[in-house]
Amino acid sequence: MSSNKHSVVIVGYGGMGSYHAQLIGENERLEVAGTFDLLEVRREASVEAGYKAYASYEEVLADPVVEVVLIATPNDVHKEIAIRALQAGKHVVCEKPVAMSSAEFKEMTAAADGAGRVLMVHQNRRWDEDFRVIKQMYETETIGALFQIESRVHGANGIPGDWRHVKEQGGGMLLDWGVHLLDQLLFMIDSKVISVTSTLSYILGNDVDDGFEAVLQFANGIKAIVEVGTTNFITLPRWYVKGIEGSAVIEDWSLTGRIVTRNSESEHREPTPIRAGVGLTKTMAPPSEGSTITEALPPAAELADGFYNNFVAVIEGTAEPIVKNAEVLRVQNLIEAIFEAAESNEIIKDFDIYGVK
Ligand code: NAD
Repeated sequence: MSSNKHSVVIVGYGGMGSYHAQLIGENERLEVAGTFDLLEVRREASVEAGYKAYASYEEVLADPVVEVVLIATPNDVHKEIAIRALQAGKHVVCEKPVAMSSAEFKEMTAAADGAGRVLMVHQNRRWDEDFRVIKQMYETETIGALFQIESRVHGANGIPGDWRHVKEQGGGMLLDWGVHLLDQLLFMIDSKVISVTSTLSYILGNDVDDGFEAVLQFANGIKAIVEVGTTNFITLPRWYVKGIEGSAVIEDWSLTGRIVTRNSESEHREPTPIRAGVGLTKTMAPPSEGSTITEALPPAAELADGFYNNFVAVIEGTAEPIVKNAEVLRVQNLIEAIFEAAESNEIIKDFDIYGVK
């Protein structure tokens, strides 16, 4: 540690590695000691950006200045890079999905425990404001107790033209985006998942899924629909949630949205039937005037700290991790259940999210 900053080496200086360099640079207790990338062109980019480019991973591990290894490589090599770093006495921040399977992740946590070092996974979307607004609604029952949560991300660009196409490298949208959306749900909902159904899509003809839909039933009665699509030229809202007193929608990451609740002050009046298509309906007519209230979204729930501040506190032994490895393992287990449900075309039941089925 130079002055009072912990030195971090970024392994995998690609898209996310460069972003981490910025984030670390913004943290007053961390500094980038350098980077390591297999590709010459990325090592050159690192030097151009002002960061030392280590010539080999062995050189990183042998450098006593380095306290933390940050892993931002494709998913298939996270495990090996992490275990070697932990065994060399470094702390590790690893990108999501932390590993290719729950078994791999257990090897990683065993290495961290064995070495007495911190392994923390960058589940950064726990801090997304749109998610924290939903978390606030869940916790404070702004629209009554929630019973349905629909969480979607839609793009129309297909799978990016990199390792995300390749199954052996941990490609596919369930691992790439699914891990974020599932992590958010399990972080928020304090109840077991009791059943899982899913379908994966292969519309673009890759070996890996270009999207998926999973339906999760929680023991507390909440149903969650989680969907990722990469061929959606019209996008559905990022969030649509229903509570017993109202509904809410968040359209996008800019937090365009609203909540509509029942107006308990208004006298009950039957809605006026409307012509709908070539028919007539009262059931699907708009609620009668004054019977509902439309309001702005509530403020976002706060988390105890930012990711990197929390990481610093964890390695200094002054805080518990906000992203706990037991939670990451639950998400890995859930991803495996979603793959299994899609492959078998069956409902996966009696799913013990804390361990094996
Ligand atoms: P990328 O392809 O842009 O970068 C990966 C880099 O790793 C490349 O420069 C590659 O040369 C290098 N690399 C590959 N194998 C290596 C090895 N064995 N040793 C050293 N370097 C190696 O990929 P990306 O989009 O930056 O994704 C990297 C990781 O970050 C993935 O795990 C991905 O899921 C994750 N990610 C997370 C977020 C997030 O919001 N948390 C966003 C994007 C990506």
